[in-house]
Amino acid sequence: MIGLWQFCLVVTLAFVYPTHVEAGVCDCSVAIDVGHAIFAAGATSARGKPEFDFNLTMGALIHDQLVASGFSRSFLIVNPHGLKERVRIAEEKQADLLVSIHHDSVQPYYLRDWEFNGKRRKYSDAFKGYSILVSTKGFQFSKSLEFAKMVGKNFRRAGFVPAYHHSKKVPGGRHNMLDEELGIYQFDNLAVLKNGSMPSVLIEFGVIVNRDEELMLEQPESREKMMRGVVDGIHEFNARNCGSP
Ligand SMILES: [Zn+2]
Repeated sequence: MIGLWQFCLVVTLAFVYPTHVEAGVCDCSVAIDVGHAIFAAGATSARGKPEFDFNLTMGALIHDQLVASGFSRSFLIVNPHGLKERVRIAEEKQADLLVSIHHDSVQPYYLRDWEFNGKRRKYSDAFKGYSILVSTKGFQFSKSLEFAKMVGKNFRRAGFVPAYHHSKKVPGGRHNMLDEELGIYQFDNLAVLKNGSMPSVLIEFGVIVNRDEELMLEQPESREKMMRGVVDGIHEFNARNCGSP
């Protein structure tokens, strides 16, 4: 039998010298990866706002709450050059968990035109909801899925609904759902999900080309609830795997 600190040491060494063997987390260094960059801002909302702005706001909110609640080694990844660079930074800083922050769009087929503030914009009200993505090729797939379920349960308890437009069951959708109730998808080939040695998930917080959902995602109360869903999930994940900080 080993004590908690010895267990933590073993786990920490496992992250310093990554192997394909799964391990739990210990010291709660969470990499908050802000999706896209100021020079390549991702999707555009129904009202013309870049996805990167949504991601940065949510990422900063999660980071600040993590630090305030004891995970002081957590850090943001903002504006790196390339997807591999995101994982490299997370490895270099010995992150125990990587959470990539995104906001969703839909297949171009579903987009329609409308005018907002005198400009033509693209929108689709066909789909809404959050999605949580994991890779079965990730070194820590089962731990990634465990964390994804915790966040999914928190989101459902808070009243949010999963999006289904990535599912094979929907025309244009291409991905398996690992958990329909909790909104968890299998995205095997995303670099940020499959290349890191730490458990890794990508969260699409909502569909910003949906006109109602964009407004919902801009509300501080909605952001706060979603942030809580992620941060509470991180605390729960940490407690289950290695004890509180
Ligand atoms: Zn994105």
